[in-house]
Amino acid sequence: MPDERQVVVIGSGPAGATAARELLQNGIRVTMLESGSGGFQSGLLVRLGGKNLFRRTPPLQEEAGHSVSGDPRTLCYVKHALGGLSNNWTGAVPRFAPEDFTEGERLHERFRWPITYTELAPYYEKIERSLPITADARDVPQMPGGHVRYRNSIPEDWQAVERAANKHGQGFTTYPLADGPANLIVRRGTAFNSYTGIVRPLLRLPDFRLQTGAHALQLEWSATTGQVDGVIYFNRHTGSMDRIGASAVVVACGPLGSAKLLHNSVSGDFPHGLGNSQGLLGRFLHDHPREWWSFQMDRPLQFLAPSAYLTRLPYASSPPLMATSWTLGTASVGDRVRSRFGLRGTAVGVQMIGTMIPSEACVAQPSTTSKDEFGLPALDVCIRYSDAEVDNVVRARQHLLNLMDEAGYRATIGEVVPTLFPGTIAHYGGTARMHAKPEYGVVDAWNRVYGAPNVLVCDAACFTTAAEKNPTLTVMAIAARAAARLAHDLKHA
Ligand SMILES: Cc1cc2nc3c(=O)[nH]c(=O)nc-3n(C[C@H](O)[C@H](O)[C@H](O)COP(=O)(O)OP(=O)(O)OC[C@H]3O[C@@H](n4cnc5c(N)ncnc54)[C@H](O)[C@@H]3O)c2cc1C
Repeated sequence: MPDERQVVVIGSGPAGATAARELLQNGIRVTMLESGSGGFQSGLLVRLGGKNLFRRTPPLQEEAGHSVSGDPRTLCYVKHALGGLSNNWTGAVPRFAPEDFTEGERLHERFRWPITYTELAPYYEKIERSLPITADARDVPQMPGGHVRYRNSIPEDWQAVERAANKHGQGFTTYPLADGPANLIVRRGTAFNSYTGIVRPLLRLPDFRLQTGAHALQLEWSATTGQVDGVIYFNRHTGSMDRIGASAVVVACGPLGSAKLLHNSVSGDFPHGLGNSQGLLGRFLHDHPREWWSFQMDRPLQFLAPSAYLTRLPYASSPPLMATSWTLGTASVGDRVRSRFGLRGTAVGVQMIGTMIPSEACVAQPSTTSKDEFGLPALDVCIRYSDAEVDNVVRARQHLLNLMDEAGYRATIGEVVPTLFPGTIAHYGGTARMHAKPEYGVVDAWNRVYGAPNVLVCDAACFTTAAEKNPTLTVMAIAARAAARLAHDLKHA
């Protein structure tokens, strides 16, 4: 029997942690299942004077339960541990812009999100207040400012670059980072981690239970009630197969893990996986084509630590869903240390993030040949960047060099690190996309699976399209919004 008003949240990464907190704040009992069985994975972060001087994150590995059939270089980073990938993330937390939710419509209706920026804005702010964020709070073109606890702005001698960017309709500002206070020494690799920052404080609440070493294998569908009423999971501590009853389930295993769990959840009513009645589950998988390189200037400028951010070109002058952002920072550890003393230098490190136009051909689906550690089909990840998506990033190198030139600095490109293949940035999304119509989406505007509305998918699997911005802040805002609605519905059922 489902436990009245008990929600089972699967995953303790930023998405699951946020959903759990929101449900508890709204008076709903929560049990969180987390596959990771060990304790908290420690690291070390030393942050002085607003600059990260030393950072050691726990090891990051690819998960064994995947096969790859698109670009053979594809990486599938997964962290089965308390806090998920937030043990390793950088903490960049830009908001999506209003147009990021609508611009895909220029291509086709299927690329229009069913939610708007305005609907999400209160949840963005709520999450930002809890992180907390170091940034310049101003709105800049193509990136709204958010709630900032610790203010920061680009060094004065970079303002000529900002003016040149503005002439192209772009913004140039500090990169919003969940970096916390200026001085910090913590035994973790990141200032914000969803376990230490959200889940651990929840453990004090009587209505919250965390079950570690609990790897969810299947959501149990009841044909009688027409809903999911339990979760079958492998208990890594006892080696047994256990079941937990639920009134509702929040799936937040990361975009690959969530697709896998839904694919595994077959029943008479869902023979091809829960939420897969239209054959969309796992499809429209996308990631960010990204590239690292550095450039040398003919004259020194202040080191950019923390990093600066050049926003994408305006929507009106870009092809739909084709964009790039540029993050500018130090090019070496030595420069990062020199930045602490207000020194200047001529080398700049750049990370570019481009976009993909989500397509049905990119798909995460059960493998027909390999199995995972539980004897279930492994997840086959089939993704590759099109020539246009690669060209979009390669062309963007020259745009930045031209812009530096216009600002009065002759810049020469240095080494380009070859990372233009899927998975290098761990920003997968789209495998259970949200859409107003079930013919284009696996979940609705409140993250509820079409045909199984007491199951919510709350990680970036739900992304309809990907902006050229880091996804996690938007993931957390969407998870909070969906969980608040779920709590309301459970209380008023
Ligand atoms: C090196 C690196 C740097 C990054 N930098 C940034 C950045 O600067 N900004 C940004 O926005 N993003 C960044 N990311 C991406 C960011 O970490 C992810 O977007 C974010 O962690 C996703 O949160 P999530 O909760 O959806 O998934 P995850 O963090 O992957 O958490 C999923 C959780 O679910 C658990 N789980 C999975 N399957 C099961 C199962 N079957 N049963 C039970 N539990 C399960 C996992 O153990 C894990 O704890 C970075 C990632 C990496 C690797």
